[in-house]
Amino acid sequence: MNILIINAGSSSLKYQLLDMSNEKLIAKGNCEKIGLNEPFISYKHDGKEEIFEGAKNHEEAIKKVLNILVDKEIGVIKSFDEIGAVGHRVVMGGWLFNESVLITEDVTKKVEALSDLAPLHNPANAMGIRACEKVMPNTPQVVIFDTAFHTTMPEKAFMYAIKLEDYEKYHIRKYGAHGTSHRFVTQELAKVLGKNIDEVKAITCHLGNGSSITAIENGKSVDTSMGLTPLQGLVMGTRSGDLDPTVVQFLCSHKKQSVDEVLNYLNKECGLLGVSGVTSDHREVTKEAENGNKRCQLALDLLAYSAKKYVGIYLAILNGADAIVFTGGIGENSAETREQIVENMENLGVVLDKEKNKNFKRGQVELISAPSSKVKIYVIPTNEELMMARDTLNIVKNLKKSK
Ligand code: AMP
Repeated sequence: MNILIINAGSSSLKYQLLDMSNEKLIAKGNCEKIGLNEPFISYKHDGKEEIFEGAKNHEEAIKKVLNILVDKEIGVIKSFDEIGAVGHRVVMGGWLFNESVLITEDVTKKVEALSDLAPLHNPANAMGIRACEKVMPNTPQVVIFDTAFHTTMPEKAFMYAIKLEDYEKYHIRKYGAHGTSHRFVTQELAKVLGKNIDEVKAITCHLGNGSSITAIENGKSVDTSMGLTPLQGLVMGTRSGDLDPTVVQFLCSHKKQSVDEVLNYLNKECGLLGVSGVTSDHREVTKEAENGNKRCQLALDLLAYSAKKYVGIYLAILNGADAIVFTGGIGENSAETREQIVENMENLGVVLDKEKNKNFKRGQVELISAPSSKVKIYVIPTNEELMMARDTLNIVKNLKKSK
């Protein structure tokens, strides 16, 4: 069965078509600048990339993507019927969803109702769902939540120590994110360790433009670094990560800005970008640091130090781990940052093989710890779209059985 994976943002819509008989990617691309000036659609297949005129809204974007996929000359399928199901990424499932589900009107309404907790993401995700339902009314649609994997966290991990009444009334708590990626690498880790998933104890570090670290016990998330929103936790590309909440009040009063303006600043202008003063792109910051730019080195040091702290916290919470896993754009590619995070942890049973860490074939699962390391260290490439497609397939398969 072919499955179409959709990741809709407010002005973009990323898509991937996967053949689930062999779990291979058939085509992928992005509808960018939807409804803005000069929108365009990229389309990659068989090693080629083409660019097409973009769309005014999400519905038009889906229609255009489908037409490209079935185009007689450049298409990869013959008709829409060759798409067995659609899987949609939704950022916030809140306390309502602990797994992927088949989309019904009730589910879409709940996704919209959760917008209060993810105002930048859920409305756009819901827009993608509604557009797809209109254009493909007979194709089953599934939703995969970034937060679902973290619903196994115990209260003591997900609660903030605010007044209990406020937690109950407003659902203010830690929800986490990147759940699909943490789940995918946990499953891959179980395979390489030769264990059942429910025997895995690990710390998974998803380090990309957005970053989070998760403590995994018995294959389940028991704590994670992101919070009510993705602002909490590590130093990221443009996010500050953890800080004393009083900093918000301080910035509001000194910069004469509203809370919304300061939150926007903490989400979009801080992290690597704010400290380096150059860019949020880790690779570029690394190059600049190598050329002697001290602000860039400081930004990298802050990021690695924030990650190291969470690894330490989770080693304590888990009482050791089978493995530490690095994934995401930075986790998979930056030997320097991986080394900074796990260096000088020998007394905790974490010993990196520095040479292996620097020299290995990218794009596959790699063990980079020394034989003496009690805690194994792995680089495991993530594949969120494949995880989403697997969930979609499982749900749709059961649907067919129960018919
Ligand atoms: P992601 O959000 O997972 O796509 O990751 C994006 C981040 O990974 C960006 O900050 C990139 O600069 C970073 N990245 C990608 N390749 C490398 C690399 N070879 N070295 C360092 N950072 C990289």
